[in-house]
Amino acid sequence: MAHRQIAIDGPAASGKSTVAKLVAQRLGGFYINTGDMYRAVTRAVLDAGIDAENDPEAVVALLASIDLRYWLVDGVPVLHLDDAPVVQDSIRAPEVARVVSYVARIAGVRDWLRERQRETRALGTIVMEGRDIGTVILPDASHKFYVTASPLVRARRRLAQAGEVVDGATLASVAAEIAERDRIDSTRAVAPLRPAEDAIHIRSEEHTSELQSPNTI
Ligand code: C5P
Repeated sequence: MAHRQIAIDGPAASGKSTVAKLVAQRLGGFYINTGDMYRAVTRAVLDAGIDAENDPEAVVALLASIDLRYWLVDGVPVLHLDDAPVVQDSIRAPEVARVVSYVARIAGVRDWLRERQRETRALGTIVMEGRDIGTVILPDASHKFYVTASPLVRARRRLAQAGEVVDGATLASVAAEIAERDRIDSTRAVAPLRPAEDAIHIRSEEHTSELQSPNTI
């Protein structure tokens, strides 16, 4: 069967990772999370002491000294920063969530990641999630989905994810953080968050059982 490229976009905590992993499993395809790539760059930016919001040139300059790629490990794509696998805890930390949208709005960062994301097509069938996959990265994807959920459901979901929010976070504070990230992501000049014209919209609310049968593919 020909290799397929599935694009899954949507705002923060919309449930797109759950959908993307299920679809990849169902199709025997490779799951690629481009949000993790932006988060890994952000981790490196923070570790270098760079102020991403106010010093985009320093962020772009840093890219020359790092490499970031998916490598297959036992048949599974694993994101590597230089030679080390990226540790989920380090990129899911609240301080990364706070600045990742500033890093992701820098055109030089997006240019740098675009080819690294596209080269994963060589793996075979891929299921790639992000914000601009259907619109920019894989405009010719065989299937495109845009996953959304209400702000309340998304905030609840994020609050339930250990390690992703600061101690003492409330539903209101988490909702505000998500809303701010979505605002920056959807209003930036380059590759803003928006559904591709040919995307199928999925609303993922409380009942994840609805997600068990992605029978549109
Ligand atoms: O998907 P996740 O919430 O982990 O993504 C983190 C951030 O990375 C997003 O809020 C967005 O700023 C950025 N991102 C992006 N384009 C993508 C994937 C993620 O700008 N394709």
